[in-house]
Amino acid sequence: MIRKLLLLAAENKALEERVSRNPLTKGLVSRYVAGTTLDEAITVARKLNAKGIDVSLDLLGETVSELEESAAATDAYVDTIHAIAEKAPGATVSVKLSQLGVALDQSVCAGHLKRMLAVADQCGVTVEVDMEHSSVGPQTLATYRTFLPSFPHTRIAQQAALRRCQENLISFTEVKPRIRLVKGAYRENLDTAICNADEVTAQYLHLTDWVLRHLPDPAFGTHDSTCIDHVKAVANQLGLDRRDFEFQMLYGVRRNLQEQLAAEGYRVRVYVPFGSQWYPYLMRRMAERPANLLFFLRSLIGG
Ligand SMILES: Cc1cc2nc3c(=O)[nH]c(=O)nc-3n(C[C@H](O)[C@H](O)[C@H](O)COP(=O)(O)OP(=O)(O)OC[C@H]3O[C@@H](n4cnc5c(N)ncnc54)[C@H](O)[C@@H]3O)c2cc1C
Repeated sequence: MIRKLLLLAAENKALEERVSRNPLTKGLVSRYVAGTTLDEAITVARKLNAKGIDVSLDLLGETVSELEESAAATDAYVDTIHAIAEKAPGATVSVKLSQLGVALDQSVCAGHLKRMLAVADQCGVTVEVDMEHSSVGPQTLATYRTFLPSFPHTRIAQQAALRRCQENLISFTEVKPRIRLVKGAYRENLDTAICNADEVTAQYLHLTDWVLRHLPDPAFGTHDSTCIDHVKAVANQLGLDRRDFEFQMLYGVRRNLQEQLAAEGYRVRVYVPFGSQWYPYLMRRMAERPANLLFFLRSLIGG
């Protein structure tokens, strides 16, 4: 119930304005967001690199309402890619196609993504495509599919909660995609997605087995110890090396576990969001961790 309410709040523009202007949210924001500027994100990336942890930089912002905004977001991503190549090699960028305009004009979005992929390729940087709400999921997957043969290193997130997830994975026959398996962070209908948390975890475990057997260099985007232990056990049974796959976690979540996995010799990548448009991202993090809710409500009332 609380999760649903928070995910609804994540889509509410009036609340976004009110909360974004409220100084009391600052502490909570800084736990999950690296800063508002690219320089701040690079500083965080280098600190994590020093601990043996890779990063993926995410320029916050989603669902643009004008195509000009999608062009500006693409420019900002191109700057981010150049900064990574120069100052934080090994980092990837994570992008939401709604930020590149997929919901407004799929061909314009494809043009922006192509530009990003070409620049990233020249700079030796990998692009990771986030998976958003199912209302833009098929367009996101189709756009990714178009460019996969030319840019086979590109990674795409896949949500275990979505009923079509395994079907989507099996549908890649020629070039096998590098995926990031996540549980799924969006409010979805029962027709589209599994909504019970235990069932989502069970499906995550099931898909982990399949992904480790069939797809190259998979990433597991989870903080759930049950899921992480399962990845380790299955990889071990299959005789995989600890560096044949990667664990991914969010900035500010289970930091000790991130360091512990890196110390055990696993590849760990932390998803580092930066920028001023943090509201929907933060609300999804609240939905995953209602213990933070009290702090959040205090900031709302205080504003
Ligand atoms: C690197 C990465 C990329 C992602 N990309 C996408 C994407 O493209 N599309 C998408 O739909 N979803 C994405 N997600 C979010 C994902 O779908 C889940 O909503 C999120 O990871 C929580 O699920 P969990 O597997 O960590 O398990 P949960 O069962 O939610 O959490 C397990 C434990 O982790 C800790 N934890 C989890 N979340 C938080 C939090 N916010 N704050 C504090 N502690 C927490 C708690 O201790 C909790 O008990 C991504 C997640 C990661 C890690």
